[in-house]
Amino acid sequence: MRFGFDIDDTLINLREHAFHIYNRKLNVNVGLEVFRELKTVEIHEAFGLDKETGSQMWGSLLEEIYFTDCPAFEGAIELLNQLEQEGHEIFYITSRPKEFCSRTRQWVKAKGFPVHDENFFCGMQDQEKIDIIKELNLDYYFDDKPAVLDTLKDISTKVFVKDQSYNQHVNIPRVTTWKGFSY
Ligand SMILES: [Mg+2]
Repeated sequence: MRFGFDIDDTLINLREHAFHIYNRKLNVNVGLEVFRELKTVEIHEAFGLDKETGSQMWGSLLEEIYFTDCPAFEGAIELLNQLEQEGHEIFYITSRPKEFCSRTRQWVKAKGFPVHDENFFCGMQDQEKIDIIKELNLDYYFDDKPAVLDTLKDISTKVFVKDQSYNQHVNIPRVTTWKGFSY
């Protein structure tokens, strides 16, 4: 089978990692309970920042957010390695900006995920993911982001949403934890 995965907030806990960085940079201590209530993919609201200031802050911290010690979600690395060992093909499809693609691929590898360079797709817009997913003829695809999932309604690929506070309204099969996940 051919399995495709988004990376940020699907396989790794990027927003929560960024949330800790924001707390540190802004010298505040906003609690994780606030994080868990967020209904937006963006995290700036939790710090009382407007959209513009929030997106500036995100942009200026990208390097640190992406390439420090962001944890994988429990069970994710193990599951993907197990799938690989069972002979399945693993694809990564991330809309991280182009300039971060090759370092991201190295980072994901170093983290312990099974990566074949030719199966790593990066730098597209959210709404362009569907073209790659179709072209690759994936059997399964996993993502967290409503704006992406909304474009994937009419394809034969079986699509799952990785459970997050901002995607509760998305009505497709849901992965709450990778630990013990079976498709
Ligand atoms: Mg994502």
